[in-house]
Amino acid sequence: MNIALIAHDKKKELMVQFCIAYKGIFAKHNLIATGTTGGLIIDATGLNVHKFLSGTQGGDQQIGARIAYNEIDLVLFFRDPLTGQSNEPDVEPLLKLCDIHNVPIATNIATAEVLIRGLDRGDMDWRDIVNPKNSKF
Ligand code: PGA
Repeated sequence: MNIALIAHDKKKELMVQFCIAYKGIFAKHNLIATGTTGGLIIDATGLNVHKFLSGTQGGDQQIGARIAYNEIDLVLFFRDPLTGQSNEPDVEPLLKLCDIHNVPIATNIATAEVLIRGLDRGDMDWRDIVNPKNSKF
């Protein structure tokens, strides 16, 4: 499965901890991320993450384009609802694209935990059946 990872600045440490905790599951999938988030995950875990541009440079829109082509199977976007900076990407456009293609998306760690465990249990295998493309990044 192709998993997209994005975290606002105040949530980046949380994302890193999450990736450390679930490294064993993440290692079985293809990971993509916005630039800074991806770099921090690589440094902390050694996971193979395809980095797009930084969110401030449009990396979220690069990921959005992949969702629009239905190439992404799961999105974890840890947003900071209280202090998100104006130059940080907005989750709304990605939510819309995920709703168009029925892509599971988590905006906080509690939902992410449910989804990542479900992914490992096979709850999302249907995506490979209805959408067997799965480009590698
Ligand atoms: P980044 O993008 O991972 O490149 O920082 C996300 C953000 O800007 O919040």
